[in-house]
Amino acid sequence: MRQALLILLSAVCIGVVLTAAEVAFTVHRKQTAAQSQLVQIMNLLEGPSRNALWNLDQTLADSIFGAATALESVGRVEIHDVSGTTFAATGEKPAMVSDFRRRMIAPYMTAERTLTRPGGTEVIGRLVLYLKPDSFIQDARATILGSVLLGLTRNLLLALLLSVIFHLFLTRPLIKLGRDLIRVKPDSPLANPIRVPRFHENDELGYVASRINELLAQLHRSQSELRRLATRDPLTNMPNRVLMTESLNGAVERAGQSGRALAVIFLDLDRFKHVNDSLGHAIGDALLRQVAERLQENLPAGHLAGRLGGDEFLIVLENMDGADEVTNLARRLLNALTRAYPIDGQILHVGASAGIAMYPGDGDDSISLMRHADVAMYAAKAMGGGTFKFFDRAMTERAMIILRTEASLRDALADDALHIHYQPKIDLETGAVAGAEALVRWNHAGRMISPAEFIPIAEETGLIIDLGYWVLTQVCRDTASWHRRLPGLSIAVNVSARQLAERDFADRAIAIVRRAGLSPSMFTLEVTESVVMRDVANQMVVLNTLRLAGFRIAVDDFGTGYSSLSYLRQLPVTMLKIDRSFVNDVPGDAAIAATVIALGKKLGLTTVAEGVETQEQYDWLRQEGCDQAQGYLISRPIPAMRFEKEFIDPNAGPLLRLVGTED
Ligand code: C2E
Ligand code: CA
Ligand code: CA
Repeated sequence: MRQALLILLSAVCIGVVLTAAEVAFTVHRKQTAAQSQLVQIMNLLEGPSRNALWNLDQTLADSIFGAATALESVGRVEIHDVSGTTFAATGEKPAMVSDFRRRMIAPYMTAERTLTRPGGTEVIGRLVLYLKPDSFIQDARATILGSVLLGLTRNLLLALLLSVIFHLFLTRPLIKLGRDLIRVKPDSPLANPIRVPRFHENDELGYVASRINELLAQLHRSQSELRRLATRDPLTNMPNRVLMTESLNGAVERAGQSGRALAVIFLDLDRFKHVNDSLGHAIGDALLRQVAERLQENLPAGHLAGRLGGDEFLIVLENMDGADEVTNLARRLLNALTRAYPIDGQILHVGASAGIAMYPGDGDDSISLMRHADVAMYAAKAMGGGTFKFFDRAMTERAMIILRTEASLRDALADDALHIHYQPKIDLETGAVAGAEALVRWNHAGRMISPAEFIPIAEETGLIIDLGYWVLTQVCRDTASWHRRLPGLSIAVNVSARQLAERDFADRAIAIVRRAGLSPSMFTLEVTESVVMRDVANQMVVLNTLRLAGFRIAVDDFGTGYSSLSYLRQLPVTMLKIDRSFVNDVPGDAAIAATVIALGKKLGLTTVAEGVETQEQYDWLRQEGCDQAQGYLISRPIPAMRFEKEFIDPNAGPLLRLVGTED
């Protein structure tokens, strides 16, 4: 509509300009016509008028005038003699209608001609002629009116035609294009593509439409790519956690409707971290890709496998007949993963552990199913890996934590993710370093886990056995050179109840030390008082064997258990460690600490105060004749390298220092 109005307006404007030009042209034509008429009449009248004036012939003048005024356009004729006096005149002076018209027409309505003597050149008077303007004006008005009307109609028609053409060939296709654009859905750009307007395939409009379609196709492609990136694991191109959770939700819904069993398998590679750490991430990535391939190859159609991250995979099995079918499939997958992996010219062997949760028995939504499959996987890991386990309600929170910790600890042990820190023991008399206690450290996923937290779990699960041997082996490795440089140094290693109860503990411990080229006499084994006293008869045998081989034996946390003094005398103990809680009370409430020191002296045992944190405690212990001190006052437990630099090197600084940080 607006366009039509615009076209109309421009047509009218153009029309006005054209008409104005036409009017000007018409007026000009009329003026020229009047002028030529004037000249013609003058030419006719000039000769007779000259004769009439020369001869002062009034009758001739009258007849000339009669003939002249008979012409319709002639208004008045005048003949003046040379003095200006009118000799003859006829007719009315035509009235000029308005100033404007007079100005437009008057100059073209009168003419004057000088009259000369017949046959000579002497001026005898003037002939003046007035034309009547009315006919000219009427004529001009009619012509102008005609041309204005014609111009207006013509321009209106033109405007109409242009509007129709514009509408048909521009506005309508544009409106259609606009409507198509409104229908485009940004999330599915190709659902409603832009239609190329008919007959416009090859013009600008067609170009615009197809260009928009190209852009929509591009948008579609980048959206698909984004979706792929957001839901696919880039390394294996498997569905990622997001897509797996989504798919599992769908599967749970379908299983709820169909009543068929659904199984979720949580799968984790055993000792993958080891591969990554020892062979590098490139090999680790290649391994993960092969694992993904094998999973997909061995998974029957209709089921889904994805990677959750790291070395964790999730498999969703739909329409299962029962646990047997799931068992078969899980076994098949694990077997496939156990086969050797040829990577980069090497042959790798990696196993996997899997946990299985079934819908609806083990959970009725994706989150609980995944969590329970995860718990079951840890149970499989706790069994040593390479196997799978179904989720079991007995796997409670506590059990879960234990299983999780144990599984991670097992990995840590296998992957050398554990470290030993050393805390010095100082000879209170000389101030020299007398030994160090080896304390295990676990940095798990960026968090330091205290041995107070994981040693009990390791004991509960039996992992402490392997852990204990690992610690002893590592300590031998760390301290081998220290013994050579500081003879007499005794490195203390903690030994737990479960370790001592192992039938061949003594033999293996001795073997480990000897294999390292060291002597058991360089080491002290710390056993907690309550452990020693729990089963003295049995401990006696083990401890004797160890002592005979050369190990020194310390009773740890002394004072917290119930030591029988007679047992204490029979046991091959060499050292009493006064528990931190009693050292803490010194010097205010020093009774127990003083008693233990006295007892140690009586029995000929070395006394060590642990947890010494203040100078006061240190001074009191020295006065009382306690043999050694260990605690934050001297140093926190520190890594082997640091211990070596600060306590073993000959130019190590003064031994007594204020509290340092552990790392
Ligand atoms: P523990 O044998 O009584 O070890 C002494 C604990 O006291 C260590 O804690 C040590 O860091 C801490 N400590 C040392 N000086 C001070 C002090 O001045 N103030 C205070 N507040 N604490 C001090 P950590 O390292 O957390 O070890 C806890 C327990 O874990 C040990 O108690 C020990 O029973 C056990 N443990 C540590 N490493 C091993 C190991 O390799 N094998 C076994 N079986 N048990 C270990
Ligand atoms: Ca200890
Ligand atoms: Ca202790």
